[in-house]
Amino acid sequence: MKDQNQPNLFLEQVISAIRAVVGTGSAPLHEPHFGGNEWLYLKECLDSTFVSSVGKFVDRFEADLVDFTGAKYAVAVVNGTAALHIALLLAGVKNGDEVLIPALTFVATANAVKYCGATPHFVDSDKGHFGLDAKKLRDYLNSHTEQKLGLCINKSTGKVIRVIVPMHVFGHPADLEGLLAVASDFNIALVEDAAESLGSYYQDQHTGTFGLMGALSFNGNKTITTGGGGAILTNDETIARRAKHLTTTAKLAHPWEFRHDEVAYNYRMPNINAALGCAQLEQLQSMLDVKRELFHRYEASFIGLDGVQLVAEPAACRSNYWLQTLLLDDGYAHYRDELLKSTNATGLMTRPVWRLMHELEQFKDCPRMDLMGAESLEKRLINIPSSANLAS
Ligand SMILES: *Cc1c(COP(=O)(O)O)cnc(C)c1O
Repeated sequence: MKDQNQPNLFLEQVISAIRAVVGTGSAPLHEPHFGGNEWLYLKECLDSTFVSSVGKFVDRFEADLVDFTGAKYAVAVVNGTAALHIALLLAGVKNGDEVLIPALTFVATANAVKYCGATPHFVDSDKGHFGLDAKKLRDYLNSHTEQKLGLCINKSTGKVIRVIVPMHVFGHPADLEGLLAVASDFNIALVEDAAESLGSYYQDQHTGTFGLMGALSFNGNKTITTGGGGAILTNDETIARRAKHLTTTAKLAHPWEFRHDEVAYNYRMPNINAALGCAQLEQLQSMLDVKRELFHRYEASFIGLDGVQLVAEPAACRSNYWLQTLLLDDGYAHYRDELLKSTNATGLMTRPVWRLMHELEQFKDCPRMDLMGAESLEKRLINIPSSANLAS
């Protein structure tokens, strides 16, 4: 007879593999790290009284982002969701359009589509890098869409498919080459949800700079943080200007007058958040090095453990290793919930991947292809403690 209290060997092995890296204390999933000029720049903000919509740190933060990512322009905004919202609007998403997004993503991607009055159309994920499956998407578009007047039309809904939004899951770059080819062949714009991939490169080019625009996030759980914050990256000067205008209430420059020339958004990043961002960006490279080191330690610790693999960066890519990830083998998927329970109970913070978008009540009627890849991944992915300070 099976003893219900018998601790399971597999769970014990996984826990001790994590413990071998993080030590005996409790370990959060992802803690921010403030080890540089944060206090200095914040004090400067307070002393100057410029904590809000005026001040030098916003311009500096944008220039530093341009420097780091190699994008021509960066527009800092209040959060990553706002960055996605504006990027989709500027990519031409209109009321009644459809936007191709992964089912396996954080809810912000789908919400941003809805903010534009459009419908998310869910696409399956590749089991290797977890991003959109370019080949499956191409086959699907071949059989489900037609071209009319240079637009891609969904044959079953009659709606325009305006944009594809790849997301770089946990910092691992998606198949940008394959997806850019699909976008171009089907006349669909490409906007990257690069919220998780600051510091990640696809073939030596920074993620978020391949599409018409890329959206970054600096939320508290991301690789670097501004408290809350985001940015739009683009190489297009007109788009950059429009993004700045639309995120700053469309106010016309004038020494004292208040004139606004369209309905727009108050999405500007406050100076105090940008100050934090400038200090954080100065440490980004060293944080990336440390997070890579953490990956190598986990890698050594998980070697030879049956039933589970530690996720490594895709070929020809350099990942920021934002969240360290375990992928359970198919035959071990049934351990997921027990593993989540027992790790969290012992102070090791672990999390499953997001509930797939088409399983959420508010998106359950949205169009989608078969999502077998994403459904299999959802059952098997677990994020483990990933803070930069764990490797030091
Ligand atoms: C974090 C994140 C965002 C943006 O989140 P904010 O909290 O609004 O900054 C968008 N998409 C994905 C995939 C994310 O992980």
